[in-house]
Amino acid sequence: MTMESINPATGRSIQVYEEHGDEFVRHALDRATKAFQGWRKADVSHRARSVQKLAALLAKRKRKYAEIMTAEMGKPIRQSVAEIEKCILLCAFFAESSERLLAARKVPAVADESLVRHDPLGPILAVMPWNFPFWQVFRFAAPALMAGNIGVLKHASNVPGCALAIEEVFRQAGFPDHALRTLLVGGSRVDSIIEHAGVKAVTLTGSTPAGRAIARKSGEMLKKTVLELGGSDPYLILEDAELEKAASACAASRVINAGQSCIAAKRFVAVEPVRARFEALLVGEMRAKKMGDPLDEKIDIGPQARHDLRDELHRQVAESIERGARCLLGGEIPQGKGAFYPPTVLAGVRKGMPAYDEELFGPVAAIIPAKDEEDAVRIANDTVFGLGAAVFTADASRGERIAVSELEAGACFVNTFVRSDPRLPFGGVKGSGYGRELSHFGIKEFVNIKTVYVK
Ligand code: NAP
Repeated sequence: MTMESINPATGRSIQVYEEHGDEFVRHALDRATKAFQGWRKADVSHRARSVQKLAALLAKRKRKYAEIMTAEMGKPIRQSVAEIEKCILLCAFFAESSERLLAARKVPAVADESLVRHDPLGPILAVMPWNFPFWQVFRFAAPALMAGNIGVLKHASNVPGCALAIEEVFRQAGFPDHALRTLLVGGSRVDSIIEHAGVKAVTLTGSTPAGRAIARKSGEMLKKTVLELGGSDPYLILEDAELEKAASACAASRVINAGQSCIAAKRFVAVEPVRARFEALLVGEMRAKKMGDPLDEKIDIGPQARHDLRDELHRQVAESIERGARCLLGGEIPQGKGAFYPPTVLAGVRKGMPAYDEELFGPVAAIIPAKDEEDAVRIANDTVFGLGAAVFTADASRGERIAVSELEAGACFVNTFVRSDPRLPFGGVKGSGYGRELSHFGIKEFVNIKTVYVK
């Protein structure tokens, strides 16, 4: 079996890779289990030095890694560079703070000595997506390895070059061999990896169907999972919002990574008094986004990561229009090479249309009319997902009240777009998954919270 990287901007093959066979995978998992015996005992300061070295190598090779990403999945080069920079910040955060976050806590006056420790579990399988091919892996691996675990990476099949580059940079940063091991296998082989006795837990960032499959198998094997799944983040535009600023933030969040971000703004719920004006402003902002060669520093939108994903996005747009949505911008597959899809705005979106019910993973803004605040909150929560949400209003306390008490999501932002930060927990509720990454919550997902009681 083979795996092929295809440049989505040109349709040309970059490289064909042999998939790793069953024997290779078994051997790698056995070696990961052995590597754990040494790594779990390494001092936290030693682990931190490896993570700092990792950050230094990323900084030195920023452009090289950014170009691999852009070639394999079409991310605009400026955003690829920014992704590596974000990985560097993440490494710095966990190198500096893990000792404090993982410190054993004494519980006074229970026994002669009572301790709560955070011990590593062993090799953790990470099944990762192509959309942020470095960030998603580092977001899992930096804290998991700082906690003393081993990483086994099954990356998405369209980014094997990124997967191998990540394995190499971990090795060169001084982590032991097999501390982060890449397995070049397709999604259908994941079940057999979960079955291996050496794999102690599983994390997935990906779609809801993949989440279901992994949760099912891991449940059968009684292995813990963290699932970071899809999202259809609602952005509420209230009648007192600063509309120009709101439209600019909404468009920026909608087109980042050519719209292929789990926490991109996807549904714009605009209340009636400002709906028409917001539609016009959003169309203006989206029209100004430049689509083109992802290696061009000046473009905002590159191609979609694969042709099949672009075609599925177009099916969702076309079906929404057939069911009554008004297409205010875009909505047509452009002529020429590459998996491009133009910035698109759909208005009058309602329940029963794909743009309302499903996640649109591309630069397509769906504007949904709402009567008032109460109706907007109802629409925002009327989704199977619960990853992020945002509210735009001139009254920050009103925004905070809605974010705190009304919205069903893992992250609710007021007057700005949803983003991740190593210091803040990241994850969803409902169909967006469970568990958290980043912050002290993330580093404690894959540890044995061990009670030690000495009489
Ligand atoms: P995907 O098809 O689910 O792929 C993600 C990973 O899961 C890939 O490595 C894939 O392997 C693997 N996979 C697919 N089906 C599987 C199965 N049945 N069993 C085991 N593994 C399986 O998702 P995607 O299209 O790459 O990514 C887009 C989705 O991810 C969107 O829904 C997006 O919102 C979500 N996402 C969520 C977050 C978050 O943090 N919440 C972040 C980014 C993306 P192959 O490539 O070999 O098929």
